[in-house]
Amino acid sequence: MKVEISRRRFLQGSVALSVVGGTALSGTSIMAKSEEKTENLLVKKVPTICEMCVNKCAAVAYVKNGIVTKLEPNPYFPKSRNMLCARGAAGIHALYDPDRLKYPLIRAGERGDGKYRRATWDEAYTYIQEKMVKILDEEKDNRSCIGYCAGEGLAEHTFKTFMADKFGSSNFLNHSTICLQTAVSGYTLTIGGYGLADMENAKYVIMAGANRAEAILTPDTMDMFKRTRGRGMKLVVVDPRYTNTAMHADTYLPIRPGTDLAFVLALTYVAISTKIYNRTYVAKNFVDFDKYEKHILESGYTPEWAEKITGIPAAEIRKVAHDFMAHAPQSVYYQGRRTTWSSNDFQLRRAMALFTALGGGIDVKGGIVFGKKLPLGDHAVNAPMYANSQPRIDKNVAAVVGATGSWVGWRNMVAEGKTPYPIRGMFVYKQNPMLSVPNSAKTRQMFEKMDLVVVIDTMPSDTAMLADVILPECTYLEREDPVQSFAGS
Ligand code: SF4
Repeated sequence: MKVEISRRRFLQGSVALSVVGGTALSGTSIMAKSEEKTENLLVKKVPTICEMCVNKCAAVAYVKNGIVTKLEPNPYFPKSRNMLCARGAAGIHALYDPDRLKYPLIRAGERGDGKYRRATWDEAYTYIQEKMVKILDEEKDNRSCIGYCAGEGLAEHTFKTFMADKFGSSNFLNHSTICLQTAVSGYTLTIGGYGLADMENAKYVIMAGANRAEAILTPDTMDMFKRTRGRGMKLVVVDPRYTNTAMHADTYLPIRPGTDLAFVLALTYVAISTKIYNRTYVAKNFVDFDKYEKHILESGYTPEWAEKITGIPAAEIRKVAHDFMAHAPQSVYYQGRRTTWSSNDFQLRRAMALFTALGGGIDVKGGIVFGKKLPLGDHAVNAPMYANSQPRIDKNVAAVVGATGSWVGWRNMVAEGKTPYPIRGMFVYKQNPMLSVPNSAKTRQMFEKMDLVVVIDTMPSDTAMLADVILPECTYLEREDPVQSFAGS
């Protein structure tokens, strides 16, 4: 008999097998069992957090003789609920990758030609120190002449604290503006926060440009799998591509790329023109609703208008708007991160937030919730050694997007020599801007202008190839980081 097994079933099976551990070997001899018992006594189980992606699921590392032999899900963490995805389980390879950076390297050729020599830590520190002293002497101790950036992770804040509070530079960048910053800014400026979709209790969810069956987000992905297909949550997936998430949807709406704003505006038009929105909530919480109503009604954002732009039939748009409001306030237009890279993404997020708010699904069970962080207190940071010498070079943009600045705007200013003072060096921590910031030729141009580039990472990267000094970093399985709390988890 041919037995077929899907990838998903295989992965489920592998998790289940690893959870039951030794009991799967019940047929082995008593001798083998006692050897196994002794072996098990040598294994230490260390609770840890997965950092293979932004979710930070809880894991247990099995450590034998100082070697991590496997990673398993930690059942006690409510955010990840006993789940460690395939990528999380494979995190062990980040630790034992043969290509890991193992010692400091100093550039031995031209910038970018990949020639480095092995150096001791003292040599590397001396090299960095001499260059920095020279730069700061020439720039009258303006600490902001040295920029720094960090990839997302539990150590990001430690690095940032050191560079901002201890060293004194104001020019920090992270991934936000090349990731979800427009979504966070759009929601925050409209309803006061980005929040979390309460997928455990929502009855109706519109998911657009968020592929939760493939791009896992805990606990949303688990709730979606648990509650769709007639188990409490109606799911509408809006995506140009028929994804694995679309397979779980009650309704799949293929949309033309980059046209989501027209779809949301038409839903809003239907809700307002037919007065099916949550009038009690709106009367209590909206500011200047009459002006907003007038704008929507006079704008001509009809389903027929949107059909021509999005390719979604007007009748479908009407049905979704009515169904959404019928389930409200347990209805959410899922916030997601981005749909396509487009200049209207900020306004799209504002329209999505407003549509959810029209149903009253804000700060209620089954809507967008804001959660609370555990009161952990502040990290103990010594008093700043230096005040930031100069404000960040992109301070006008940073005022809009928060303290993370705009990677593209910041890069362009440096590359084009349009900064109020020179940026002469950069520390790059666990980020690869040569790969992740659009227009790598321009990013290279930026690095080539600098007198000192230091890359700190676990692996060589495209950006490391432009560094003067490369310093090897620990993986998340080797570090201890400050305790953090995730809102609502
Ligand atoms: S979703 Fe997967 S990779 Fe991301 S933190 Fe959780 S287990 Fe790790």
